[in-house]
Amino acid sequence: GDGRTDAALQGLDPEQTAAVLAPRGPVCVLAGAGTGKTRTITRRIAHLVAHGHVAAGQVLAVTFTARAAGEMRMRLRALGVDGGGGAVQARTFHAAALRQLKYFWPRVVGEVDWQLLDRKFAAVGQAASRAGAPTTKESVRDLAGEIEWAKSSLIVPEQYAAAAARLHRDTPAPPEQVAAVYAGYEELKASSTLLDFDDLLLHTAAALEENSSVAEEFRDRYRCFVVDEYQDVTPLQQRVLDAWLGPRDDLTVVGDANQTIYSFAGASPQHLLDFSRRFPDATVVRLERDYRSTPQVVDLANKTIGAARGRIAGTRLKLVGQRPPGPEPRFNEYDDEPAEAAAVAQRIAALIKDGTPASEVAVLYRINAQSEQFENALTEAGIPYQVRGGEGFFQRQEIRQAADALRRTAARDDLPEGADSGENLIALVRAALAPLGLTDAEPPGTQARERWTSLRSLVALAEELRVHEPDLTLDGLLRELGRRADSRHPPVVEGVTLASLHAAKGLEWDAVFLAGVTDGMLPITHALGSGGAPDDEAAVEEERRLLYVGVTRARVHLSLSWALARNEGGRKTRRRSRFLHGLIPDSSPASKIAPPRRERKRARCRICGKALVGATDTKLGRCAGCPSDIDDDVFAALKDWRRDKSRELDVPAFVIFTDATLTAIA
Ligand code: ATP
Ligand code: MG
Repeated sequence: GDGRTDAALQGLDPEQTAAVLAPRGPVCVLAGAGTGKTRTITRRIAHLVAHGHVAAGQVLAVTFTARAAGEMRMRLRALGVDGGGGAVQARTFHAAALRQLKYFWPRVVGEVDWQLLDRKFAAVGQAASRAGAPTTKESVRDLAGEIEWAKSSLIVPEQYAAAAARLHRDTPAPPEQVAAVYAGYEELKASSTLLDFDDLLLHTAAALEENSSVAEEFRDRYRCFVVDEYQDVTPLQQRVLDAWLGPRDDLTVVGDANQTIYSFAGASPQHLLDFSRRFPDATVVRLERDYRSTPQVVDLANKTIGAARGRIAGTRLKLVGQRPPGPEPRFNEYDDEPAEAAAVAQRIAALIKDGTPASEVAVLYRINAQSEQFENALTEAGIPYQVRGGEGFFQRQEIRQAADALRRTAARDDLPEGADSGENLIALVRAALAPLGLTDAEPPGTQARERWTSLRSLVALAEELRVHEPDLTLDGLLRELGRRADSRHPPVVEGVTLASLHAAKGLEWDAVFLAGVTDGMLPITHALGSGGAPDDEAAVEEERRLLYVGVTRARVHLSLSWALARNEGGRKTRRRSRFLHGLIPDSSPASKIAPPRRERKRARCRICGKALVGATDTKLGRCAGCPSDIDDDVFAALKDWRRDKSRELDVPAFVIFTDATLTAIA
């Protein structure tokens, strides 16, 4: 084949190659983290295009985050497959639907203007108040989340209450009330032609299902579909995908059921696991070699997911590490969160000093609010960082525009002989980037400066490359940029990444710090039963999969940490995550720490704290001298207060203590 063909097949193992070379039609790659699924689909697209099996513009690749989509576009460009017939479309489901809807809307609905609803909580709040449901900020958020789940699961308001009962949903309000809020919310939107994100998908599917000319035109345009992270597809997204496909079956999906982390939002790995039943002639490929992580990290990943209860059928894949051995994962316990954050920052500083670029380090946590303490600690340590949500270097708009500008320059046929030879290259690059905002002096304004800084970094990279390769040409530079985008090495020192575990999906770093690994954060509190209620087992297992996602982001260095108290010198009310049980080796200092309190707890009276004797008292959780009609919140407050009586007793004003209780506590 030509050069491009070779590029698409280079550096693939036999199973990956089989997936790349499979004929057009249904293909499914089922494999664990770090086995090269994303690499494989990118190469498959490149291969199909390079061989003329499909035009680049006929391929629609969908992923779940804008960043992943940007990265895929970049990798494809590096493989030389944009150009003729338009570029490969790599988008999120929502972005793809939005684009299609804009195009088809006038034909499907007519001259009705619509707008994307950007104040969803306000609309849900309004509907909640009309339905007499609670309207606090938290309840409205919960209601909005529940409505989103219902829509993603293709459950309409009339079906909601029955579905919630059947699925044992932990509903944020009585099911009939949630249904009323949901119905009210839909009416509100309809009366003002507002669409929320789920509506984009619903309308797109409906347009294709109900309008055959629209469907024909669409299917003429797009002929080859690819889905990354397919384990997290929702029934609604699947419906869109089915509408796109119509009777065809040119669909490649890749996923890892053990990385299903959006089932709370309606996602289900069942579509992935049922793929070969739905398409009996599908090419199914399993990958087991892990190219991302050291054997030590792979071992921990295997243990993490191997411990899963209720494991998903058909997912018993064991990863086999391919990289040379590295350091053992670390487990560290701290007295409080500031101490944890400071220690993480210190360790990062040491890694950077030893040569790890800051951009190859990530701190991952369960919820976004946890970022703050690490921002503080990193700032104090003088370490640059970026909180995810912001984009990586190669995904930045200006860098993508810059790459395009350089390509256009490379394709110009009016360039004088030698214009891009080593000694003229940098001047050529500067000239090409000048229209994008690369001025000599740093411009004023945050946005402009950010843009300018990126562009300057690109020039700096070109200069650095030329030092190593004096004969570097523009084509060579472009190839190198593509290669770096492909292997995710940003060209310049960027900051440490701070990200939630959900946002870290699909990404990788040399060093990963999983922070806040406590019971209550991972697994998160709302997966755990309170006041004697049992844990939500399915939710706990999803939390375990999140830990697996976190562990498998690390190439070499992996550290898990947790703190026993929130504030400096605060009360140690936390304990390390139950998931760490069996993961911490005996040689690790953290393993010497006393086991979780729950395991060595002796039964004590919930009110006065006296040790309980006798089965009846133990069962009731209180001694005979204390009353039994106090609710859980009050019990908890009493417990806190008993430990530290200098604090105010924090109970609702309407709780009145009987003399017996007060005597018991005193
Ligand atoms: P995840 O489930 O986390 O999304 P993935 O299966 O998509 O992981 P990739 O991100 O495609 O995995 O690949 C993981 C890493 O391994 C990347 O750095 C990739 O470049 C590298 N890699 C993949 N396949 C090979 C291979 N055959 N040889 C060498 N490196 C590879
Ligand atoms: Mg991937």
